[in-house]
Amino acid sequence: MSKYEYQTEVSQLLDLMIHSLYSNKEIFLRELISNASDALDKLNYLTLTDDKFKNLQYEPRIDIKINKEKKTLTVADTGIGMSEADLKKNLGTIAKSGTKSFVEKLSGDAKKDSALIGQFGVGFYSAFMVADKIEVLTKKAGTKTAHLWVSSGGSEYEIKEAQKEGHGTEITLHLREGEEEFLEEYRIRAIVEKYSNHIPFPIYLEKEEEKEGKKEKVVEQINKASALWRLPKNQISEEEYKDFYKTISHDNEDPLLWIHTKAEGTLEYTTLFYIPQSAPFDLYRVDYQSGIKLYVKRVFITDDDKELLPTYLRFVRGIVDVEDLPLNVSREILQQNVILSKVKKASTKKILTELKKLKENDFEKYLKFWNTFGKVLKEGIMSEFEHKDLLLDLLLFKSNKRDELVDFETYVKDMAEDQKEIYYIIGEDADMLKASPLLESFNDKGLEVLLMDDEVDAIVIPNIHAYKEKPLKAVNSTDVEEADEEKVKEAAEKYAEILVKMKEILKDDVKDVKVTTRLKQSPAVLVYDKEDPDFAMQQMLKQMGQTELPPVKPIMEINPDHEIFKKLLEQKATTKVDTVAHVLLDLAKLSEGMKIDDPVDFSKRIYDMLEKSI
Ligand code: ADP
Repeated sequence: MSKYEYQTEVSQLLDLMIHSLYSNKEIFLRELISNASDALDKLNYLTLTDDKFKNLQYEPRIDIKINKEKKTLTVADTGIGMSEADLKKNLGTIAKSGTKSFVEKLSGDAKKDSALIGQFGVGFYSAFMVADKIEVLTKKAGTKTAHLWVSSGGSEYEIKEAQKEGHGTEITLHLREGEEEFLEEYRIRAIVEKYSNHIPFPIYLEKEEEKEGKKEKVVEQINKASALWRLPKNQISEEEYKDFYKTISHDNEDPLLWIHTKAEGTLEYTTLFYIPQSAPFDLYRVDYQSGIKLYVKRVFITDDDKELLPTYLRFVRGIVDVEDLPLNVSREILQQNVILSKVKKASTKKILTELKKLKENDFEKYLKFWNTFGKVLKEGIMSEFEHKDLLLDLLLFKSNKRDELVDFETYVKDMAEDQKEIYYIIGEDADMLKASPLLESFNDKGLEVLLMDDEVDAIVIPNIHAYKEKPLKAVNSTDVEEADEEKVKEAAEKYAEILVKMKEILKDDVKDVKVTTRLKQSPAVLVYDKEDPDFAMQQMLKQMGQTELPPVKPIMEINPDHEIFKKLLEQKATTKVDTVAHVLLDLAKLSEGMKIDDPVDFSKRIYDMLEKSI
């Protein structure tokens, strides 16, 4: 017998389980059965692909036993089992990134933490909600020695060698005082029916029956074992869809949407996709877990193939079950499989189409989806070429003209008669963008400008280029508008001296100083040459670690109708140009969300001006 310490996060998790106020304790059984089912899947796969296991004779099954005298509940499977090393790794540490970040979020406040359990499947450890001692007797398929793992929570567990007939795992829960309901047959039946009716293996319940005065053990199958996704849609109730989602995703919330497709014809396959309500914990981690399980003719192959759907759909959970693949296909070969890439394309199209329908038919629900997963979906702009139009139709934007979010379709429908382009502005904060001097002439003409304030926008939006042949144009680009050339030329002549002077003064900061007609109220604005990356893009590149970029200078455009310039000209106050140039540059930067280089110098100039104005 050897004692081992749990990894710190595990003890924390166990502690939470034990003191949890979480009321939906029954999910522990769902988690244990789901683990048993996974173990059967894994062994099944080995018997098909690994010569060592080809001739293994066994009956894949899950057995639940109730012992009222000893107050124990046992869940046993004939699956792959665990070696001693497996036990230490799987039931002594937390390997999964998702679970780890879950534990990191724990606050120590029992109420809050209990709510978190509800949001997050915690797997095996959830059994400690109802048991004060757990025994795991297990023998790995293909090995001779069995091991018994025992723990009463706390900070340690024990492992010793043990006897067990066949391979597989038998988990015995010694139920806590007050949890006797889980010794009742009806209760177990109800939980299994709810969550595990459609896992593809039979679950048997062993119970005692009185026959002619004698107690006798009877075994009865209590689930349908029907692989839900293979049933015709009209035979599946909403509840069944939802409960099945909880089984495969370990999520305790209902899914937001599901998409069940059976494809027949040249390529035969079934897919059942779910979109969760909340983002999985590892959504933004590089080592995120795939949410899709791949089956071939009902036989589980892998849940670790991230290629089954595009990365920007990584929040989707569900099942892909393909007919036309050989069962012994190796996981490596899967990567470049033609059939799977066809299924991927068709599934992507299907998911995007269904989301579009949701947007059209239930906008409120779609908004919920968008707020949770919109950012991830936008990543697709960079990678989705085949269904780009569909993807573009799913995007929602803030706008200078409306309070609610708007899509491209509506934007285009509401465009001004002679408007040829879709205008947008990128920055950190929508309210600030809305007040940007760059928008003045657009507001004045009643033109709609999309306000892009997502971190990813600077990278992805310029890659859209066009929506249905309408080009996208950033309003801070020099070529955004056909300027009133006559007026510009005239003003440029009028202000020639001042322009030259300003350019000389600001030569380290700006590429050029020009007259513009785009401003209405503000005196000056900074824009970027259409070939140059704009400010938001530069920020983004910097965040991505590209620090060696040569500095890109903006162009300062001035408003010839502004009183400041009119007065400068009238009074021939060329000595004041220096202050004006510097202060306007800094003010333009501030109003466009940039930082000013020398705040002390800026303040000095302002104080000086204040003094003179009083
Ligand atoms: P998850 O199932 O989400 O990975 P768990 O904490 O429930 O997390 O289980 C941890 C690991 O323990 C599993 O990934 C699996 O490798 C192993 N395990 C749990 N139950 C069994 C079982 N019945 N048979 C074989 N391995 C198991």
